[in-house]
Amino acid sequence: MTRPILARIDPAAFRHNYLLAKARAPGARAWAIVKANAYGHGLLPCAEALRNVADGFALLEIGEAMRLRSAGFSQPIMLLEGFFAEIDLQMACANRIGTAIHCEDQLRLLELAEVEQPLDVAIKLNTGMNRLGFQPERLPEVLARLCASGKTRQISVMTHFACADGTGIDEQLARFNAVAEPAGLPRSVANSAALLRYPHAHFDWVRPGIMLYGGSPMPDLQTAADIGLRPVMTLASRIIGVQDLQAGDSVGYGALFTADRPMRVATVACGYADGYPRHAPTGTPILVNGQRTRTLGRVSMDMLACDLTGLNAGIGGSVTLWGEGLPADEVATAAGTVSYELFCALAGRVPVVNA
Ligand SMILES: *Cc1c(COP(=O)(O)O)cnc(C)c1O
Repeated sequence: MTRPILARIDPAAFRHNYLLAKARAPGARAWAIVKANAYGHGLLPCAEALRNVADGFALLEIGEAMRLRSAGFSQPIMLLEGFFAEIDLQMACANRIGTAIHCEDQLRLLELAEVEQPLDVAIKLNTGMNRLGFQPERLPEVLARLCASGKTRQISVMTHFACADGTGIDEQLARFNAVAEPAGLPRSVANSAALLRYPHAHFDWVRPGIMLYGGSPMPDLQTAADIGLRPVMTLASRIIGVQDLQAGDSVGYGALFTADRPMRVATVACGYADGYPRHAPTGTPILVNGQRTRTLGRVSMDMLACDLTGLNAGIGGSVTLWGEGLPADEVATAAGTVSYELFCALAGRVPVVNA
């Protein structure tokens, strides 16, 4: 017997969310952002769910891009951070994998490289995020050098927003448009938050990530359900122990939670070594046999405790940590993080099954 924890992935929900993103950005094509093993959901099962519908896939590693090509995906694929060495570049060219290009080093590598065929390149501009990208005023020069290299096919221009989920995109978008519009190149700027909030930033290609997985990019403004998104990952487990507490009894490491009355407490087979956040405090929502209750005390490596008082459940009872019936965004908010981190942290030891 194995531990009862597992992550169920719902490919139909992933497809639904992608089509919803497309419907919210009519006229644009949509990169399905599947970096970080499809935000922890599994690259190939997610890609498979979009086999006939995805306009393209975007991720970070050339190896992951090659896995998509090997699995027969013929759509455009893009490397969002570009290449890290000439060998990456050659593999990308040989397999028709496109690449962002964000700095002088990459540009020079491309100028000097021997490639077997030209490749698609997205020039990445730094418009205020100050993470990756050329200064916008360098666009004409970078473009001229790419064209002169003879190694590019389709050239586009992209940027990434720091505050699309909060204070907005106006300044960054103005800096971007000031150079991108005159260049007349295809544009791509919108992550999930910008896709949902700023139709004037859809342009040619949108780049939805978290919304495809059923997370809201701005849970304090709009829930995933408000947007019409469906959860893709359900992290489920079971009760493996039950304790009856008296007033004054404590639970777990550090005795962080102490009962002030008689209580029933369940021990659930899920801990931080499964990817559940250790910093989730007492009171984090959790479902037991479909009934909503709260975690108690500190999350252990392999187990956590939850309140069974007044609930009809015992050993073997089913537990939902997040997903169907309990939005990951609610758990993330209670734990002081975002659904992105919960999904990506799913541990390798948790079996992933298609629902
Ligand atoms: C991750 C990523 C996205 C997707 O962002 P979400 O907030 O998950 O929609 C879009 N563009 C780039 C460049 C990214 O790295």
